[in-house]
Amino acid sequence: MIRDYVDGQWVSSYGKTSFSIVNPATGKEINQCPMGTSEDVARAVAAAQKAFYDWRQVPVIDRVQYLFKLKTLMDAKVDEMAKCVVQEHGKTFAEARASVRRGIQMVETATGMTTFQQGEHLEDIARGVDCTTLKKPLGVFAGIAPFNFPAMVPFWFWPFAIASGNTFILKPSERVPLTQQIIFDLIEKTGLPKGVMNLVHGGKEVVTALCTHPDVKGISFVGSTPVAKYVYDTGNTHKKRVQALGGAKNFMVVLPDAVMDKSVSTALESIIGCAGERCMAGSVIICVGDETYKTVQERMVKAASDISIGDGMDPNVTMGPVISQQAKDRIKDLIASAEKDGCKILLDGRKDVDHMPGFFLKPTVIAGATEKMRISKEETFGPVVILAQAKSFDEAIAWINRNEFGNTATLFTSSGAAARKFMNEMEPAMAGINIGVPAPMSFFSFGGSKDSFYGDIKAHGPGAVDFFTDKKTITSRWMSDSTVW
Ligand code: NAD
Repeated sequence: MIRDYVDGQWVSSYGKTSFSIVNPATGKEINQCPMGTSEDVARAVAAAQKAFYDWRQVPVIDRVQYLFKLKTLMDAKVDEMAKCVVQEHGKTFAEARASVRRGIQMVETATGMTTFQQGEHLEDIARGVDCTTLKKPLGVFAGIAPFNFPAMVPFWFWPFAIASGNTFILKPSERVPLTQQIIFDLIEKTGLPKGVMNLVHGGKEVVTALCTHPDVKGISFVGSTPVAKYVYDTGNTHKKRVQALGGAKNFMVVLPDAVMDKSVSTALESIIGCAGERCMAGSVIICVGDETYKTVQERMVKAASDISIGDGMDPNVTMGPVISQQAKDRIKDLIASAEKDGCKILLDGRKDVDHMPGFFLKPTVIAGATEKMRISKEETFGPVVILAQAKSFDEAIAWINRNEFGNTATLFTSSGAAARKFMNEMEPAMAGINIGVPAPMSFFSFGGSKDSFYGDIKAHGPGAVDFFTDKKTITSRWMSDSTVW
């Protein structure tokens, strides 16, 4: 059974039950995750609150030194962390490595807090009166993470939170908590003061306790839309700042002037990378015009047939398993719904996989999707290419904008004018032009719109400091006998 990390020590959870952590490539249990309780949360919040009083007074230049140390320690352990991600999540080693590197980039960016946290000052706003705005840390923040990026997603938040003078409690997904054990070992090695970073394992009870505890000032959540909504509503009701990143249905539009081979391979990589378990994964490909639709269909089936599935540690494997039998059944059910709704299954990824251990699906290619079908609306979160057709570019954009999610949308084209129109008119908050996974890097902000994001301030980038600090404005006048006003 793995342990929590509270007040600078590894401690046992008060939880009496546990969640079985399974390697999705083998279907075998590899460890157990304690399902924590509100007592675990109370213990961690008390430690984080106590640590906050000193930590906020540590100069920012000294606070970021712990991040510089962590970056060096992580650089030396990239492969170890990536291997752990493969074991608990199922990604290929290359995908896992890339996700760890993205995590490290967040740490690098947060070392810029010496600049990000600077305030504003204007002298003589009236005669002899100056005005200053400071960005003050608030206290204890919490992060709640999903299963699909065991290493990376927590880094979207906590380096920015602690660099700006707050303390933090992380709750990883109970399905994939192992990589965070390695990361917290490294955090401990940096010598970070006790209580600044804490780790509490569990599920709904821990989430609810974090969202309702009076000393938690803010919550950063990433996960499915229904839970994002629950966290957003519960946190707000309990007077917390909340940024809640939810699910997605990402559309990709192919125009007749796109560079076809490269567009198809880029779109396929977007859809099947990490077995489709990415909030940024492409899903429905809307082809504009008959010829485009025909070409994309042919090339997509060929390209998707070449994908080799298996254990992510095998260098010849291009796609790993999905996370669980439950996820596999859900994806199969969604494919069956498309068949029932009249779609054609051009390549059936449900076939020839049940003899394998673990939770494997091959890529599926579905043609003939229309807007109102379940397959066109629901998040797939699996390796399923959904092909659809639109008569015009405007019709494709209108379809995207009617969808309830608003995470990303991508356009494949050679036309600058079409790209510009797309960026201006489509509603999702992250856009790609000839890029399959337009995931903003650590130094830009990350987050969708509509049902893909609840809140005001998005993840990472220089703007992250606004979520983790409050603006305090001081208007001052220094008097002497000679002061004139
Ligand atoms: P999930 O919503 O099931 O779980 C996310 C977190 O919430 C976990 O830590 C889990 O323990 C907790 N949780 C689960 N059920 C809960 C409940 N009923 N009440 C309170 N807490 C609960 O999500 P998941 O399956 O782990 O992750 C996949 C989802 O995350 C997908 O929808 C994906 O699109 C989304 N995601 C979004 C982004 C983004 O940037 N928008 C990034 C990654 C993943």
